[in-house]
Amino acid sequence: MQTSAAADSKIKSESKQEMKCLIKENLAADGFSLKETHPVPKPGFGEVRIKVLATAVCGTDKSIYNSAKSEGIRKEMQRYLASAADYRPIVVGHEFCGIVEELGPGVHDMALDVPNHMLIQKGDYVTAEMHLSCGHCSLCRTGNEHICTGVKVKGVHLDGCFAQSVVVPYKNVILLGKNGDTSQISPRIGAMLDAFGNAVHTVQEADVAGKSVAILGAGPLGLMSTFLCRAFGATRIYVTEAADLERRQALSAEFHADHFVDVSKGSGQLHSLVNKLESNSNGVDVVLEMSGSLPAYDDAFKIVRNGGQVILLGIARQPLPSFDIANGVIWKGVTVKGIFGRKMFSTWETMLSLIRSDRLDLKSKLEKVVAQKLYKLDEYEKAFSVLGSGEELKLIFSPDGTQA
Ligand SMILES: [Zn+2]
Ligand SMILES: [Zn+2]
Repeated sequence: MQTSAAADSKIKSESKQEMKCLIKENLAADGFSLKETHPVPKPGFGEVRIKVLATAVCGTDKSIYNSAKSEGIRKEMQRYLASAADYRPIVVGHEFCGIVEELGPGVHDMALDVPNHMLIQKGDYVTAEMHLSCGHCSLCRTGNEHICTGVKVKGVHLDGCFAQSVVVPYKNVILLGKNGDTSQISPRIGAMLDAFGNAVHTVQEADVAGKSVAILGAGPLGLMSTFLCRAFGATRIYVTEAADLERRQALSAEFHADHFVDVSKGSGQLHSLVNKLESNSNGVDVVLEMSGSLPAYDDAFKIVRNGGQVILLGIARQPLPSFDIANGVIWKGVTVKGIFGRKMFSTWETMLSLIRSDRLDLKSKLEKVVAQKLYKLDEYEKAFSVLGSGEELKLIFSPDGTQA
């Protein structure tokens, strides 16, 4: 039974509209701060507020956590500021799912023509595209919103979702289940659709059907790309990794990769395997770089065949010290493509259709990539210490500690 003091404080906290969240106070120092009494954000015109059921952690969050060591992320977070002194603390986090709890003014005026079953209402189970494009630049107006030059990312430039509630534009909300129905897509999967969308976007940009594919990096993105490449008809799949080898090798085998190569002590084995198996074409048809590790870029352009494709999703944290562009790209006639975020919103349509297809059984595969343990926001220090240690692949926070 609730004591009257606890009940009082609950009422007080509800009436004060306060929430728990993780904040990045100072870019020059590592770590986050847990705030217990942060103001609950109010949805503005055309925005909705979503109660966060589950929120996933990605490599970008880890870079923000360790911002003192990463000049790249500090610069990115200050991209739209006149000077570093203009930085104000933000709520971090950008991958989540939740329940719509308040519609801001104008939302349903904007959605008048939406068929009723698609209309997003209070109580619906949703996720959101957290890259906010300007909507007006020439890229936005030519179907390239994902590379809008003014794109702002929630949890990087604006308040994000490591919180009990988050506000997003109605336009960016993606319906997962009417009336809070989480039976089709569990919250732990709903929370990682942003990352799954990165993998779907990457594999879709490569032409993998009937092709040999090398996936460099077997973190969550590389592993998801592995089962996607298999589903999309790749004929031979190589996966490389340098850490947490045992579990990643087992998962890549479960996702039907043909070869798993340990590159922790160099990539000689990878090169000799590709030379042996791809001798007809002198390399693999497609390389997907998912690791961001510097030696992997060297491997990518060495193992790709003449006329092949190199698709880059992993984020190199520093410029490449040297790059032989003549031998790696020009004389080989290689096509190189960078991937940022998800196409708005065709990637979302594709990924939801893939997940909902029982034929592909992607839900059970995604369940294997995501952590089984849920962390509370209060446990963030432990969670970030575990990240990358091999204990978990894709970490999930449950802001109120209850959701699965
Ligand atoms: Zn992310
Ligand atoms: Zn734009």
